[in-house]
This record gives sequence, structure tokens and C-alpha cells, in this order.
Amino acid sequence: MDLPTTADIVIIGGGVMGASAAYHLATRGMKEVVLLERNKFFGQESTGKCAGGVRHQFSTEINIRLSLESLPMLERFREEMGQDVNHRQCGYLLVATNEKDANAFKRNVELQNRLGAQTQLLSGDEIRARLPLMRFDDAIAGTFNRKDGLVDPNSVVMGYVNAAAKSGAKTISDVEVTGMRVSGDQIEVVETTQGLIKTRMLLNAAGPWSSQVGQMAGVHIPVIPIRRQMFTTNPLNEIPEDFPFVIDFAQSLYFHRDGDGLLVGMSNQNEKPGFDQSVDEDFELVNVEAAIERMPLLERASRASHWAGLYEVTPDAHPIFGGSNVRGFTICTGFSGHGFMHGPISGKLMSEYILDGKFSTVDVSMLDLARFDEGRLIKEYNVV
Ligand SMILES: Cc1cc2nc3c(=O)[nH]c(=O)nc-3n(C[C@H](O)[C@H](O)[C@H](O)COP(=O)(O)OP(=O)(O)OC[C@H]3O[C@@H](n4cnc5c(N)ncnc54)[C@H](O)[C@@H]3O)c2cc1C
Repeated sequence: MDLPTTADIVIIGGGVMGASAAYHLATRGMKEVVLLERNKFFGQESTGKCAGGVRHQFSTEINIRLSLESLPMLERFREEMGQDVNHRQCGYLLVATNEKDANAFKRNVELQNRLGAQTQLLSGDEIRARLPLMRFDDAIAGTFNRKDGLVDPNSVVMGYVNAAAKSGAKTISDVEVTGMRVSGDQIEVVETTQGLIKTRMLLNAAGPWSSQVGQMAGVHIPVIPIRRQMFTTNPLNEIPEDFPFVIDFAQSLYFHRDGDGLLVGMSNQNEKPGFDQSVDEDFELVNVEAAIERMPLLERASRASHWAGLYEVTPDAHPIFGGSNVRGFTICTGFSGHGFMHGPISGKLMSEYILDGKFSTVDVSMLDLARFDEGRLIKEYNVV
């Protein structure tokens, strides 16, 4: 598709955020919505590399509210968008092995229940009974929500991209945004590898690269890229169909079914910020050893694949929604490791902000860019 020379909005980044925003803006009747992705295909960066987990289990009211809106949108996705997203409600089971996490889990479950998420608190014995294939002698508490689960990220992105295009949006890949022109304090032009687009509005949905995109207009966005990696195994007959998404919280170690095998990941707490997306083989060994400790049958498993991707991390592990010091420069980024699941509602919220000037479905106005300068940070505990 040829690059248009004008647009009512240019959305930069064709991951889940950009795709969802393009869909919600176009279906609300915004004309000349242009979605630009620099890769050949949409959704191949953080979104395509993520674990596909969707959960209600957070520690802050705002993240729980985002899940309470977003997860039903994923449940209805096939019916509403005509795109199957392989939605599986296997539940998330978070395991605490120390008192500090157990106490935090108790508070989190109370908050989740109060807001309408039916998460249960489990004892160590209940965890051991539910996970006979795992070794959790040290588990002291856990939490389980049966409505949490797994969704295929690529299907969600392509569902939104195709539906946005049907509603008139121009969805263009293989085009990189390289610069911006600001006149006074107003966005005027987006520069790309294929030419210029005149526009007075843009949405920065560039995920781990959103700080770089901000710099093009002189907007400081405190998002840093942090590498995260995982591997999958070949089929393991022992893993039951309903095996939950298990998180050994203290180690940031997680397991979920992937086809007939398992997907296993672990966050390296010493990872330095950077854009390197090669697999760190030394850390993979640490991950494999920790995983075998928890699930001895993995000793017999073989690796099917492995990859690394980037978290887009903010100082308080909450996203950034809204405007900036440059008029027309809007932002939806910084989901800090759990953004895929919030993609549906986030695109909708940005369409509300851009078309109505306010967030209606969930009030996320406290998650503005200015909070970092004004010291209004809101810390999330359940970061994996
Ligand atoms: C290993 C891993 C596991 C994860 N697991 C989960 C999980 O289980 N559940 C969950 O909810 N979240 C998970 N996440 C987090 C989730 O993937 C992200 O929060 C989410 O996908 C961010 O979406 P995005 O659209 O902001 O970013 P992206 O998907 O990275 O999209 C941004 C896009 O912008 C494009 N771009 C950048 N710069 C430019 C430019 N100058 N011009 C044009 N295009 C540009 C990029 O190519 C990219 O495609 C995980 C992440 C990783 C890395």
C-alpha cells in the first residue's frame, strides 16, 4: 500500500497496542487512521514473543480494573472480531515460598475479590495437591483464578489489524518512522523511510522503542527495554490438559502448557537494559536447572524452541496513557511485562482519549506521563 501524504492520526508500532488503537479509532469513525510498523509483519516484537498469559492477579486497583475490562474482550474476541484467538481458561496459580510474598498475596486476593475478580487463596498443601508433577515442599501459600489463562498473541494482533483495515484504516508494514517535525509545540509531520505524512496527531505505541520515538519530538518517556527469554519442550504426555499457568513467584519462574509440551520462562533479575534479543545461553541453563528442581520430569524433556524478547519497563511497572508536552503527541506504552493482556482495553481507552478528550471505560488519568516528574508513582508487586 502506498504511504498517504496526510493523516488524521499516525499510529507508530504495529504490536498489540497500535493494532488495538487503530481498530478502536477506525470503528468509532475516525478518518485517515494510519498504522505504521517497521517490520515486514505486524506483531513480531514484544507481542509476538510474549507468553500469551492473561490474568486478573495484580496488586494495584488500576491493573485489576484493566484486567476486568480487557479479559472479557479477549473472551468475546472470536464472536466480535471473527478471529479465533485460541482462548484457554486454564487459570493462573501463583506460588509463594516466603512470608513476605504470602502476606502480599493475601492482601492482593482481598483487593481482587473486592473489585470482582474471583481469585482464591490456597494453602501450601492445596498447592501440592493441585500440582502432583511439581516439587513445592516449600510452598506456604498461593493464589488461583480459574478465569485467567492463555491467548494467542499473533491472532489478536491480526484480528485487530484486519478489522481496522475493513473499517478504513491504512495498515502499513515495512515502513519505519525516522523523525518528526514539531511547529511551536504542535506535531506537524511524521518522517518515514517511505516519505512524509502531514498530521497533527500521533500515537506512540512503539513498545520497547517508545523512548526513542519520544526523542524524535523531544518528549522524554522513561521506558527501558529489558530482555526476557523462554523455551518450549517437545510433547510431554504427563502434562494434563488443564495444567494451569504456574508461577514460582520468588524466582520469577513460570510454566504453562504449549501445544502438547510446556513453555518455561524465568526473569533474569540482573539483566541490564538493552536491545539485545539473542538468547543468553548461560541464563537458559540457570532457568533449566531451576525448572527441573520444580518439575523433575523435565530432566527427560528436549527443547523444541527458545527465544528472547523485550519488556518495555517503566519506573513503577505501570503503563503510560495520554498526552505529553508536545500537542498531538499521545502515548500508550510501558506495560512492564504484562501488556499483551491489557492491549484490548488500552486501545479502546486511547480511542476515548483521542476522540473524547477523556478516559471513560476505566479512568487511567493517574497513569499519565507527568506522574514521573511529579512523583506520583504507583508500584505493582505482581511483576514476573
Ligand atoms: C518474553 C516475554 C514474555 C511476556 N509475557 C507476557 C504475558 O504472558 N502476558 C502479557 O500480558 N504480557 C507479556 N509480555 C509483555 C507484552 O508482550 C508487552 O507488554 C506487549 O506486547 C507490548 O505491546 P506493544 O504493542 O506496546 O509493543 P510491541 O509488540 O513491541 O510493538 C511495538 C512495535 O513498534 C514497532 N516500532 C518500533 N519503533 C518503530 C518505528 N520507529 N517505526 C515503526 N515501527 C516501530 C516495533 O517493530 C514493534 O512491532 C511478555 C513480554 C516478553 C518479552
